[in-house]
Amino acid sequence: MAHLSRADIVALDKRYIWHPYTPMRRYIDEVDPLVIERAEGARLFDADGRSYIDGNSSWWVATLGHNHPRLVEALCRQARTMCHTSLAGVTHAPAAELAAEMIAVAPRPLDRVFYSDDGSTAVEVALKLCLQFFRNEGQPGRRRFVALDGAYHGDTLGAASLGGVEIFRRQYGGVLMDCIFVPPPHAREDGHEAAFAALADVLARGAGEIAAVVLEPLVQGTAGMRIYDPEYLRRARALCDAHGALLVIDEVFTGYGRTGPMWACEAAGVAPDLLCTGKGFSGGMLPMAATLATARIFDAFLGAPERAFYYGHSFCGNPLGAAVAREVLAVYREEEILARAAPKAARIARAFADMGAIPGASRARALGMIGAIDLSRGAGYLGELGWRAYAEARRLGAYLRPLGDVVYVAPPLTIPDADLDELLDIVRRSVTFALSTA
Ligand code: PMP
Repeated sequence: MAHLSRADIVALDKRYIWHPYTPMRRYIDEVDPLVIERAEGARLFDADGRSYIDGNSSWWVATLGHNHPRLVEALCRQARTMCHTSLAGVTHAPAAELAAEMIAVAPRPLDRVFYSDDGSTAVEVALKLCLQFFRNEGQPGRRRFVALDGAYHGDTLGAASLGGVEIFRRQYGGVLMDCIFVPPPHAREDGHEAAFAALADVLARGAGEIAAVVLEPLVQGTAGMRIYDPEYLRRARALCDAHGALLVIDEVFTGYGRTGPMWACEAAGVAPDLLCTGKGFSGGMLPMAATLATARIFDAFLGAPERAFYYGHSFCGNPLGAAVAREVLAVYREEEILARAAPKAARIARAFADMGAIPGASRARALGMIGAIDLSRGAGYLGELGWRAYAEARRLGAYLRPLGDVVYVAPPLTIPDADLDELLDIVRRSVTFALSTA
């Protein structure tokens, strides 16, 4: 096809694409989308030659920035020898080596890697493993899950059942699994004790019925970057153990150093029975995810064939994705990504603390490579002020997709200091602007 102009691309897009998380009438009539032609490091370059600092690592995946040369090289190298084979009675070096390397960096006692495609499927796998684990173990009554109000674990039906964001659930009422929701620890000033008591109560009353508690560790991302104390994870772990339930930790957003350590659950000294990883795991190159399980869980699937896990996607363990994911781990190790992100995280924390003084702004907060601030109280996912900040940030050269009226940054861990300072300055100016229109 001949080189398309920006207008041609937008015309095709508006005629044929159905965008995710997008009210399409408004999009088609009013939105002038960013048309990105190229991406490098922490920047996206559009068809007009403008660049935008990627304030959210493109939906939180590009933790090493865009087109990291080592990841591109790993992808091309693998593509020249083998792009795909299934894992059905077949194996290959990238998937086998990656699994060993994952277990080496995973919290103990995680011991096995089940591959899938994205964060939602990593969670879907965890849910099915929990259900079948208990059936295989002779406790078939354990079929329910506990999640936090405001939780987000993905969009497939199982994962969406755990979702506590009302607007994402409402359409599927009566079809989603009947999960038990408990208040998150940051819900009120005394939230920590109240939340712990609520979880303790649910687990005690549901003994014999609850398969697992599923948590986003330390920060509920999609709920609006709601940060909570690691103590809650420790207590959740102890409660699950006391009541014989499993603990699933969804590190899809928080893994790969987003909150500081490689895994957010490390900050609490807690290891789950199942850990879900995606996004950063993929290096932001190809869909790729994994669910890590303990030997105790794995062993329950051994023996007679009917005990096996009959589940798998066409692309699980895909060699291209696996080769890139291995290189991601090598880059984390060799380029000391976590240590080098620490001073950047401190810059984010300082900048957001300062933004707390902007009239009308509230709850400025930061954790690792996340900074967030609220522009209104309780407007939820459909708040409009965040989008005013988005528009202003775009004008100033940053891509800042808000969560309703929560404006946040979650940039690549490798963002150069100059880009980070520019990003934080744009956030401050955009928030000030949006609030001045309130
Ligand atoms: N779990 C968490 C904690 C997430 O933040 C997300 C996506 N934002 C998912 C699961 C789903 O991941 P995906 O969009 O890759 O399916």
